[in-house]
Amino acid sequence: MYDVAVVGSGPGGSTTARYLARRGLSVVLIDRDTFPRDKPCGGGFSESIMREFPYLAARQKEFLQGVARVGVLHSPNRMIVLKGRVDMALALRTDFDHVLHEFAIEAGANPLLGKRVKDVLFKDDHVTVSLSDGSTLDSRFIVGADGANSIVARKADLHRRWDPSAITACRVAEIPAPTEDILGRYTEDLHYHFFANLGGLPGYGWIFPKRETINVGLGIVGTHAEGLPRMFDSFVRYLKRSRLLPDSPDLSRARGALVPTGGPISHTTKGRCLLVGDSAGMVSPLTGGGIGYAMKAARYAAGVITKAIEHDDPTTAGIYDRLWYSDFGHEFEQQLLAQRIFTSSYTDLLFEIGSRDGRIQEMVSEAMSETSDQELDVKRLVARTLLVCLRSALHL
Ligand SMILES: Cc1cc2nc3c(=O)[nH]c(=O)nc-3n(C[C@H](O)[C@H](O)[C@H](O)COP(=O)(O)OP(=O)(O)OC[C@H]3O[C@@H](n4cnc5c(N)ncnc54)[C@H](O)[C@@H]3O)c2cc1C
Repeated sequence: MYDVAVVGSGPGGSTTARYLARRGLSVVLIDRDTFPRDKPCGGGFSESIMREFPYLAARQKEFLQGVARVGVLHSPNRMIVLKGRVDMALALRTDFDHVLHEFAIEAGANPLLGKRVKDVLFKDDHVTVSLSDGSTLDSRFIVGADGANSIVARKADLHRRWDPSAITACRVAEIPAPTEDILGRYTEDLHYHFFANLGGLPGYGWIFPKRETINVGLGIVGTHAEGLPRMFDSFVRYLKRSRLLPDSPDLSRARGALVPTGGPISHTTKGRCLLVGDSAGMVSPLTGGGIGYAMKAARYAAGVITKAIEHDDPTTAGIYDRLWYSDFGHEFEQQLLAQRIFTSSYTDLLFEIGSRDGRIQEMVSEAMSETSDQELDVKRLVARTLLVCLRSALHL
């Protein structure tokens, strides 16, 4: 019997497994894929993650593809462009997830790869996991870090399915390009581009320039996402016309994926089960960013499981919900509010007001790129916007 079965070896699962194994627990880290593997993603995250998880520095050369220093935000009608300083680390998920997976294995976690979890049975004193090859294994705890379509969340009765309004359907391509072309187009500061509500639809488009690839994506809220591949093609055509992409981008590796953007589920732990990352909806509703949240939640999950096993009391794990929520849970509320504002019919007007004020531009671009250590404060943003309107009305 293992102490813990961790399902999914993305940022959430590998980080949980690493912390647990370093505390001396026996951990099996299960993934349906073998590593290295790709995961459709922008691969951008706050540089502060490197400080929060300092062990990453030892292998950052293997995954860090640059740091974007300037964010460029385009209004829905594409008439207004706001710019702000940001610090967004850029990685290829193939490399980043491989390094995280290896950190977990080096710490002592046992990998079980190429096997899909098919079923989970919860008993009084353990959990039984059934795998796609017909085998089973037992563990004292299970961590569901198996992404947006989590089977662990379903089997634990913590979450069944996302409402279409709470999920964003994405299409993304990592386009190879010569480094000189990338630097010429996006400068040494690796200007990244974010397009709010393209075509008036709730969602966003993005360009994240990396060392040897340009990551281009489009995400549209599930209720409006029919025809996404067609919309993505027309987004790419627009970017080519605007010279933001080369003339003949290689889109052969374009892929689709879902990301939960309706905020986290209400309970992320039950008995011997804890959910980490996308399986629990820990993703910014504003930007679709979830790498950092998955890793932070992983650290809390590992801490409470260690305590529960030490005290031989599974109920101790129940405080997990409160721990991660008191760290970053309230950020989702602000982001949901901001998402509503940014997907409203007033977005173009907000950009127009923002274009008159440097501080608004800073606040918005920090929020969009999740690079601010100081979290988004919607009230401050609204107050600042009103101030700019007032100044303008009084001709100050
Ligand atoms: C198109 C797109 C762009 C994005 N861009 C960004 C971005 O730029 N920055 C950012 O921070 N976030 C971004 N995100 C969100 C980010 O990808 C996720 O928040 C992050 O990957 C969550 O990590 P995780 O460990 O919870 O899950 P995942 O990374 O999804 O990992 C889940 C793992 O579980 C495995 N798995 C699933 N089911 C099973 C099963 N039944 N049995 C065994 N294994 C299983 C999978 O193979 C996978 O390895 C983006 C998402 C999408 C879709």
